[in-house]
Amino acid sequence: MTANINLPRILRVGAGASRQLPEVLDELGLKQPLLVTDGFIVSLGWLDDLEAQLSEKGFVHNRFTGVVPDPTTDAIAAGLAVLHLGEHDCVVALGGGSSIDTAKAIAAMAHRDQPMRHYKVPNSIDDGLPVIAIPTTAGTGSEVTRVSVITDTETQEKMLCMGLGLMPVAALVDFELTLSMPWRLTADTGLDSLCHALEAYVSKKANAFTDTIALAAMTAINTHIRTACQEPDNREAREAMMLAATQGGIAFSNASVTLIHGMSRPIGALFHVPHGLSNAMLLPEVTAWSISGAPDRYADCARAMGMADTSDNDDAANKKLVTCLRQLCRDLNVPSPGEFGIDAQVWQQSLELMTQQALDSGSPNNNPRIPNGAEIKDLYQKVWAN
Ligand code: NAD
Repeated sequence: MTANINLPRILRVGAGASRQLPEVLDELGLKQPLLVTDGFIVSLGWLDDLEAQLSEKGFVHNRFTGVVPDPTTDAIAAGLAVLHLGEHDCVVALGGGSSIDTAKAIAAMAHRDQPMRHYKVPNSIDDGLPVIAIPTTAGTGSEVTRVSVITDTETQEKMLCMGLGLMPVAALVDFELTLSMPWRLTADTGLDSLCHALEAYVSKKANAFTDTIALAAMTAINTHIRTACQEPDNREAREAMMLAATQGGIAFSNASVTLIHGMSRPIGALFHVPHGLSNAMLLPEVTAWSISGAPDRYADCARAMGMADTSDNDDAANKKLVTCLRQLCRDLNVPSPGEFGIDAQVWQQSLELMTQQALDSGSPNNNPRIPNGAEIKDLYQKVWAN
């Protein structure tokens, strides 16, 4: 079996990497970037700084600041309108996964005519304007993935879009941008990264390349996530979490996510639960259900995270894995769907739709234990009862 690995052409990783945009644009021969971000990042002054650097070096640039959380096709349309005002030859994302996914979608749709839903999985987006991603959360790993997740404004479906055209050409991964993340955002985005790494490792599409990266990410996240939450200025923890987020992105983009992400997207789309949090609501229960499909792989994860000892057999390691994941979610105040404020009746009424959307995404087929619709529905019920 051959593994097919896709990565950005340029990865700059470490303190200060985000200040190297002009050099990277020069290296790529790009001259007219459209900068894409959200209003909060603008309020931090970071976009002004970036624009000042670009102006000083003579780049022609413009900005789109209408990014919304869980980006929608409406927001992409607004971004495209700004793109078409100029002769832009690339799109630069500054922000969390929502900004990066918006930038990718704008770049991909720049020369396409059909509505975005036409290009969702199982179709593929193989070209688009070059994207340079500067992540500010540690997080989604979107800076290194050939994925963009866009909510269809008409149907409320959180669409999975994939293809080489969605892979950034460059990513500037600077943990100093994450020092401002508050407790809840640090926890949610860090749990998202943990799910990426864990799901990539147990995925049916896992390979030797992604395995080592996924294990390294899991080790780092379980070592540092609590510290990063409690001590926002802890540079060692922030640096480790940022690297792990990028590694998680590389791992899942080249091995796929599985059932957790498949079931999580509908929760995000219908109830506006932050993405990392909806993953975390599912993490212990879906892991417990899936272990029988690959007990040795899950036991490796438990050992890599220090949740089990090297002397534990697989069965013992996997019991500890589920217990420790539950504890981690408690430590990071992950609410149940009901505690989050979702109405019980609406949850029940949405079960069919959530199950169908989870199945349609294709992600459950990569799970080590493949669920049918009834089993997915049952898992949603169990997660509600937690
Ligand atoms: P986000 O981008 O939605 O940002 C959440 C909030 O945090 C925003 O208000 C933002 O302004 C703020 N924020 C960002 N950086 C900050 C910082 N350094 N300090 C303080 N506040 C900051 O959150 P996210 O979790 O990074 O992204 C979630 C989105 O990413 C979802 O739509 C999800 O589906 C998508 N996603 C995409 C991929 C992919 O590979 N494309 C993978 C996973 C998730």
